Amino acid sequence: MEIVCLDLEGVLIPEIWINFAERTGIAELRRTTRDEPDYDVLMRQRLEILDRSKLTLNDIQAVINDMGPLEGARNFVNSLRERFQVVILSDTFYEFAEPMMRQLDWPTLFCHRLEVDNDGRIANYRLRMPDHKREAVKAFHELKFHVIAAGDSYNDTSMLKEADQGILFKAPANVIEEFPQFPAVERYEELMAQIEKASPRFGK
Ligand SMILES: [Mg+2]
Repeated sequence: MEIVCLDLEGVLIPEIWINFAERTGIAELRRTTRDEPDYDVLMRQRLEILDRSKLTLNDIQAVINDMGPLEGARNFVNSLRERFQVVILSDTFYEFAEPMMRQLDWPTLFCHRLEVDNDGRIANYRLRMPDHKREAVKAFHELKFHVIAAGDSYNDTSMLKEADQGILFKAPANVIEEFPQFPAVERYEELMAQIEKASPRFGK
């Protein structure tokens, strides 16, 4: 049995924080895991900026509501789900992802939760567990799944290493260079072909 683990931002949907930065004009919020590999450092900076700018969860959700998934993402996920079990492993938060998951027909998502005050201020964030993408792959192995994983960034590489086959999708040049062991593709047709190739049922 195979299971496909997909990253969310940069793979199926645009980077939430980059879009939010563009709407609000707060350039500092453009930083992502592509720029800062330490996720906790990055999130602390983001929450501090939101606080300083008096921006609430509602402001962020309004922006996310207007962002669509990447072109072709919905069809890709739906046709993938016809052939494979699919789980999306993301370092975003359910509160941010919900409008996007609706547009992707509600695939399974493992991510994190925010702590929000009564006035909508994001007080904190809660990671379900550290390095949860890799831990999920390990757990799927214990459940006897053959795991194929795809992602675009530093926060995916431990998941890609743990999987039976890791694939880079729309990754920046520095990540592709640093992790030459993973095939790197740009289009959903190519990603589907790589997933099928890595599958004991469809592949080779
Ligand atoms: Mg990503």
